[in-house]
Amino acid sequence: MRYIPRPPQNPTRICDRCNLQTPKDSTDCIHCSNLSDIGLHDMLQKHQEQLEANKKLAHFFIIAAIIISILMYITTF
Ligand SMILES: [Zn+2]
Repeated sequence: MRYIPRPPQNPTRICDRCNLQTPKDSTDCIHCSNLSDIGLHDMLQKHQEQLEANKKLAHFFIIAAIIISILMYITTF
């Protein structure tokens, strides 16, 4: 198997307006530069809701892994 190195990741910076990562070499933020203040608020609210949904999904998988581990442990005896 041949090793193919990954290309270096573009350096990023944190946007002062939306606090999300954006490429360092671009002057405008890729997330919020074309949004009004209301649009920014809506985008950040949706982003926060997505983070919460991801957190719930992670908890579900952790609990599923624990239950499967317990079942596997019980069935080995
Ligand atoms: Zn931004």
